[in-house]
Amino acid sequence: MKTDQLLTRRGALLAGAAAVAAAGTAGVLGAVTGTGPARPAAPAPAPGPRARGALRPSAYRLRPLTGYGPPAAAPVRTPVRQAPLLEMPGRGRTMVLTFDDGPDPRYTPDILDTLAEYRVRAMFFVCGEMAVENRELLARMADDGHVVGNHTWSHPLLTRLGRREIRAEMERTGEVIDRAVGEPPRWFRAPYGAWNRAAFQLGAELGMEPLAWTVDTLDWTTPGAGTIVERVEDGAAPGVVVLSHDAGGDRSQSVRALRSYLPSLLDSGYHLTVPGRRPA
Ligand SMILES: [Zn+2]
Repeated sequence: MKTDQLLTRRGALLAGAAAVAAAGTAGVLGAVTGTGPARPAAPAPAPGPRARGALRPSAYRLRPLTGYGPPAAAPVRTPVRQAPLLEMPGRGRTMVLTFDDGPDPRYTPDILDTLAEYRVRAMFFVCGEMAVENRELLARMADDGHVVGNHTWSHPLLTRLGRREIRAEMERTGEVIDRAVGEPPRWFRAPYGAWNRAAFQLGAELGMEPLAWTVDTLDWTTPGAGTIVERVEDGAAPGVVVLSHDAGGDRSQSVRALRSYLPSLLDSGYHLTVPGRRPA
């Protein structure tokens, strides 16, 4: 009956994301879905066609934490977690591909082309100092249905920064994303996976969920495209979040690897998609 199914599914959700269970707020996360709209269904506040460039002033700092949803609904804040999410709850063989540190015009377009060829959506955790020089790539990411996440401005070790510096790193990057894609980022990833309490608190204040990863391809060590492919295929499992990079060095191996493991994962029955977040 419905209740059992709900409980079962909730149990699966909790089991699938220990961090979520720890925070006791599994309901905030939407299940992974590949068929929904590319962006949240909630209406964007900006009227008319999506504004790009510097024409529209960013309201990122001023926007309410959760301004979406019916006015009568109680505001739902992004929870302050004590650990990042490591994988994504979902049904069946779903996985999430993530690409960090970009965008880089030498590699990101190739990755976008491959994802588009297979009609797969992914997540890009961009750095503000890269994004500001490549706004058109951010716009293309959003147009292609990918999720653009916040990976700080200059990729520092957050654990060595004060709150004010961490906030600035997050806010500046969030503003660039907001202006380029038409909405602020809803996901954050700490550089080097170095999280601290301030990062969780400030990220939540800015409406972002912290996402880490399950499978690290270590592609930044340039181990060879074949090794990257092996790491992804060996690590493949339901709910897995894969970490790769589209910038920060020579990422041609990462580009080549994707062309190999993506069709392979699809042939194995995996559904590559992006996590959803319930607006309220
Ligand atoms: Zn990074």
